[in-house]
Amino acid sequence: DHMLSQPPSFKKKKEYQLEELLGRGGFGKVVRASWTPREGEKKEVALKIISKKLVKDNEQAVMDEINVLKGLDHPNIVHVWDHFESRDKFYLTFELAVGGELFDRISERGKFTEKDALECIRQICSAAQYLHSHQIVHRDLKPENILYKTKDPNSQIVIADFGIAKHLEDPEEMLQDAAGSFGYAAPEVLTGSGHGTKCDCWSIGVIAYTILCGYSPFRETDKNALLREMTKGRVVFHERYWKKVTPTAKDFIKALLVVDPKKRISATEALKHPWMTEGAAAENDLT
Ligand code: ADP
Ligand code: MG
Repeated sequence: DHMLSQPPSFKKKKEYQLEELLGRGGFGKVVRASWTPREGEKKEVALKIISKKLVKDNEQAVMDEINVLKGLDHPNIVHVWDHFESRDKFYLTFELAVGGELFDRISERGKFTEKDALECIRQICSAAQYLHSHQIVHRDLKPENILYKTKDPNSQIVIADFGIAKHLEDPEEMLQDAAGSFGYAAPEVLTGSGHGTKCDCWSIGVIAYTILCGYSPFRETDKNALLREMTKGRVVFHERYWKKVTPTAKDFIKALLVVDPKKRISATEALKHPWMTEGAAAENDLT
């Protein structure tokens, strides 16, 4: 019959019913889809559809995204279920995070209480520690790529978008290619002077800053101006917006936003920082 003449992945595509656009990116889009492997069995997934034309000779990058994720198992890292392709598209299926992006929660709340910020950052640090122990650099940590598993205000989060993640051959390997997003990428990533796992720690510092006050620490849009702002070597906490934030939280951010990656704290060190270990006890949240 004619079904047999179709490639196997074509049949696979038919098991998915596309339901709603979740996000759009540089190489395609992500949609909510329901998967019906056989009658009576149904599962909601996130389906990432990547146009082969747009990734061109970079098909390897798509395989990298799958291969990096396949070996991972951590509560704060999105699960990848399956992958297949058609003539002009790649399809990746992921655990569906229905709670939306951290980005949207920042927009809704304006800023986080210190307690909520701490819970969020702790989970990101935990995922980063796990990734880095497996010699994987995410390279694009930012609020758009951090997703809530459920709609609950206290929902667990997962890190998604391993589109430009890299597995390092050895822990000292230095990546040189441009990566990441303006405002979140570390200075060594922007200058192309060589980066490793510590670039994720910078991004975590930017995220921590952003959720605690509701605006980004580095807002220049011109690359050179942005670099100048980032490498001034001191983080500015504007009194008006930061006066109620504890010095321990500010110290945590300062330890991550250190220009020299060698002197910047690692994810493991971040998890041992007093803000993480004692911060939760500081219930005197005045925000
Ligand atoms: P891109 O590389 O295009 O940025 P992402 O993997 O970041 O692709 O996905 C784009 C957007 O789609 C995300 O910012 C998020 O809003 C949504 N999305 C991605 N993966 C999931 C998922 N597993 N569950 C729910 N939404 C997702
Ligand atoms: Mg993304």
